[in-house]
Amino acid sequence: MWRIPFMVTGGKNGKQEEAQAQALIDLNGVVKSYKTPAGEFQALKGIDLKIDAGEFVAVVGKSGSGKSTLSNMITGIDRPTQGEVIVAGTEVHKLRESQIAGWRGRNIGVVFQFFQLLPTLTVVENVMLPMDFCNMYSSRQRKERALHLLEQVDMVDQADKLPTAISGGQQQRVAIARSLANDPALIVADEPTGNLDSRTADAVFHLFERLVEGGKTIVMVTHDEDLARSVGRAVTIADGQIASDTRRTDPVLAQVHAAPSSPHAVSHPAEHPHFVLPSPLGFGAAAAD
Ligand code: ADP
Ligand code: MG
Repeated sequence: MWRIPFMVTGGKNGKQEEAQAQALIDLNGVVKSYKTPAGEFQALKGIDLKIDAGEFVAVVGKSGSGKSTLSNMITGIDRPTQGEVIVAGTEVHKLRESQIAGWRGRNIGVVFQFFQLLPTLTVVENVMLPMDFCNMYSSRQRKERALHLLEQVDMVDQADKLPTAISGGQQQRVAIARSLANDPALIVADEPTGNLDSRTADAVFHLFERLVEGGKTIVMVTHDEDLARSVGRAVTIADGQIASDTRRTDPVLAQVHAAPSSPHAVSHPAEHPHFVLPSPLGFGAAAAD
């Protein structure tokens, strides 16, 4: 499995060093056109974007600006009309249709606005599904690992329920556990809090922060400007183009990374007494063994 190149170490040759210095996500001149009855419509008009391992990036912009299209380029859910999409060293735009789902399953955790849990599978079976699909971990380890991940999102006591028997916020926590099933370096979430009330949204956001602290890279499409302001970098999309790309270096953010809770979550600590991940997260290599 691909490993995050946290630092450039002395490679044996130049090529190896170059590979290790690569951004985790590298979009070059990405254009996406859709054919519509009114003619060709460009949803993305030439996006250049690099995201490094360990970043927490919010993608913001008005409805229809191209955020989901951009997120679908990164996950390989959709293909660019022109340009390159390189994620974790893989040229995603060159993958064959038959390769994409397996590649995504091993390398990216995807979180959706409407959770997309399979309704006929229990909570724990939903979390095991990516491991089954990608044939990761032994069959005995899969359930153990799924339960461990559910524990991390405080959902282990609901493991045998069907998704319909739990709340939206709980479903999203299960979906986040599922996104971590194969221990991907990257989580891509399209409006993950868009269908949650603000307190539940805070809790989900806080969980993402803890994942970043644990070494994950997160790209989160969001409408929530407060959330976008709380993360390390906000990329604004307008009309299929990057309108701004702002990195935060102020002390508030430094505090977010130093302390276990964000200013956002601190406003309601009592309501989520158990929804705090232990630090450091147990999601790393040890859990995957
Ligand atoms: P956002 O997620 O920012 O709301 P989208 O990426 O979903 O925006 O869509 C960007 C633009 O592309 C919108 O104008 C949308 O109508 C258009 N679009 C998205 N998907 C399709 C499609 N399959 N066919 C035609 N137009 C599309
Ligand atoms: Mg969208």
